[in-house]
Amino acid sequence: MKRLTEKIFADRRKAGRIDLEAVEMFVRDSLHRTGAAALSHLLKEDPPEQRAIPCSCGHSAHYKELRSKPVLTVVGPVEFQRPYYVCAQCHHAPNPTDAALGVERQEFSPGVRRMMAVVGSGSPFDLGREQLELLAGLHVSTKSVERQAEQIGAEIMRLEQAEIQRSVQLELPIPVGPPIPILYVEIDGTGIRGSRLNRASAVASFDVSF
Ligand SMILES: [Zn+2]
Repeated sequence: MKRLTEKIFADRRKAGRIDLEAVEMFVRDSLHRTGAAALSHLLKEDPPEQRAIPCSCGHSAHYKELRSKPVLTVVGPVEFQRPYYVCAQCHHAPNPTDAALGVERQEFSPGVRRMMAVVGSGSPFDLGREQLELLAGLHVSTKSVERQAEQIGAEIMRLEQAEIQRSVQLELPIPVGPPIPILYVEIDGTGIRGSRLNRASAVASFDVSF
């Protein structure tokens, strides 16, 4: 904050006024750096008491050491220590901390990934990179914006497919009671734009046999 005060007064002396844009950007940057330092400290873990954790192969992954994880968060680059486990059978390194934080095999935090998806979906990826820098003060590569937008797109496709599969597997109730010989269905629509009719009505009848 001392540097901040000095800058504000230096600007005032030089130009006779305060360059508010420069100052507000500087304040945001300073607050981000303070936040990133606090986040690094909060996320830091000590060596675990549990020396082995289950591995997806069915064996156990054993604790090796504390390893550093760099992640770009909404308040800037953060780095924290967390336990590192390796499975002797399949050499996979499951990481419960990364999984719980949503940063497993990811260099960006969930908040930054959401921002990248937003700027990457509606504009060219390079423009998305510029928007992130101006709006959030985050420095990322154009390629990262593109990769995140693709990953989010693939995830949406996967969720849609899962939804389709679920709807196919729906267990519908079996109708009970006497058969209905004719089922009348009426569909009403009002205020249809571009139509000379301001009220459309349709009546349909179906022969239904159960
Ligand atoms: Zn394993």
